[in-house]
Amino acid sequence: MTPAFERLQKHLKQLPGLGFRSSERIALHLLVEKPNRLPDLVAALQEAAAAVKRCERCGNLAEGELCGICADERRDGTCVCVVEHVPDLVALERSGAHRGGYHVLHGKLSPIHGVGPGDLNLESLRGRIERGEVTELILALPNDVEGEATCHYVTEHLPPERAVKVSRIGFGLPSGGGVLYADAVTLKSALEGRRGYQ
Ligand SMILES: [Zn+2]
Repeated sequence: MTPAFERLQKHLKQLPGLGFRSSERIALHLLVEKPNRLPDLVAALQEAAAAVKRCERCGNLAEGELCGICADERRDGTCVCVVEHVPDLVALERSGAHRGGYHVLHGKLSPIHGVGPGDLNLESLRGRIERGEVTELILALPNDVEGEATCHYVTEHLPPERAVKVSRIGFGLPSGGGVLYADAVTLKSALEGRRGYQ
């Protein structure tokens, strides 16, 4: 293979879910089998890299200051579902079970992997609560040790001057998994059956 091909493959291999063989197959597909599609892909990557950023309020993907969910005034922004990653939010949205707002932490506390509170999108959640924008938190974090630790941290660091109702979903969700792998029916019943947490 050529040096440029190997550089491309090296970058592809770093993407989630791609190993050596699949990255090689994609590189061959892009460069040899369908090279006419390459300019559009490059343009889409550049456009997305320039346009897509984090919503300033909730951490979801946005192209302006706020994401589509935060900007939607028909939704109840005072009831906020806290999730680990954007795909969890997408799964909950697809289930149609939650009509409030979200807060994406972009991770969970994990001392073993060196992830502390400062690495998560927690400060802006605190700010939302301090400003009185949030009255209810639904913790939809993974039901593993790290998810549990993150739930504890969030509830222990709530601004004391604000009364916030906190509940947790997870009942009925696959152990060690999160909302991402649950189907819409499971997510709906998990949200309906959420339990007080504090
Ligand atoms: Zn948002």
